[in-house]
Amino acid sequence: MNALEKPASSATAWRGVIHAYASYLPVTAATPIVTLNEGNTPLIKVDNFVRAIGGDFELYLKYEGLNPTCSFKDRGMTLAVSKAKERGASAVICASTGNTSAAAAAYASRAGLKCVVILPNGKIAMGKLAQALMYGATTIAIEGNFDEALRIVRELGETGKVEVVNSINPDRIEGQKTAAFEICDVLARAPDFHFLPVGNAGNITAYWKGFREYHLVGKADRLPRLFGFQAAGAAPIVDGHPIADPQTIATAIRIGNPASWQSALDAASESRGHIGKVTDDEILHAYRLIARSEGVFVEPACAAALAGLIRCVHNKLIPTGSVITATMTGHGLKDPDTAIQSAGIQPVVVRANTAAVMEVIGL
Ligand SMILES: *Cc1c(COP(=O)(O)O)cnc(C)c1O
Repeated sequence: MNALEKPASSATAWRGVIHAYASYLPVTAATPIVTLNEGNTPLIKVDNFVRAIGGDFELYLKYEGLNPTCSFKDRGMTLAVSKAKERGASAVICASTGNTSAAAAAYASRAGLKCVVILPNGKIAMGKLAQALMYGATTIAIEGNFDEALRIVRELGETGKVEVVNSINPDRIEGQKTAAFEICDVLARAPDFHFLPVGNAGNITAYWKGFREYHLVGKADRLPRLFGFQAAGAAPIVDGHPIADPQTIATAIRIGNPASWQSALDAASESRGHIGKVTDDEILHAYRLIARSEGVFVEPACAAALAGLIRCVHNKLIPTGSVITATMTGHGLKDPDTAIQSAGIQPVVVRANTAAVMEVIGL
């Protein structure tokens, strides 16, 4: 065996975030752990991108698209569904811009629970809809937006007949904080800054909780400043009021009245961070740039965090030599329509002969 190789034995095999971080989570030996071996996602250093945006720092992307349902939602869902099962629930329900429904449906299948997902009709990326249907969830598309879907889910939750697995469920936040732990474990320190997109604001809440807990037990040497970004057409936290009709190409963060609004503000202020907004044009620019400079394909919402970083670089807010991490919340293949529409290139169709192909290549 080559010295670079390490055998995958049962002792080293990754068994998901609950097994990895049980002592930090509300689980006991009696908790039935429902896992798809989520977590342990790559932390990718992206020097080409940093150079392209004129920065002089280290940037690492926490590539959450490599979770089992291709978004970070799996981290919260493993815990939320495990705890629902422990409490004897028979059904879980969520409102979703797409990724929560994909994760809920997958983990519910794994647990043998019924799953109901409520989506804004026509505003779900194609890959996410495919997932909910394929995992067999009862899929309801309302003629309304995410905020209206969440209101309905809250009301159904109050009947006590279904377990709500949106991020208003504290188990979701607990599970999601494990991403902050993984970053610190891999870097052997905490970053100076952490960037992420903000929608319903559960994730920024979870990261801040995770970084603080790791700092408290001495596993993180500092507390990062958290920089969260909303899309300009769906920026209630930045604008200071709910948005009745939020609009953005980044459907995962198309939310006008975030459930974790106050805790997002707390995370930003306590960490000396910031919550800002970026336009859809800035999002699409960053979306293409990260794919073309680094081979990292993310869904548009992730690019809001990168667009926010680009703004910070332009405004000279990032000291030279900083260590920065950013969450790439979901996989680019979730939303193939936006990718194909905004790539700016099309396949070139030619006759099936070598000369015709040569002509296109320009050789
Ligand atoms: C859910 C989601 C977000 C937003 O996370 P919140 O916790 O709602 O702020 C961002 N990006 C993607 C891809 C998501 O699925």
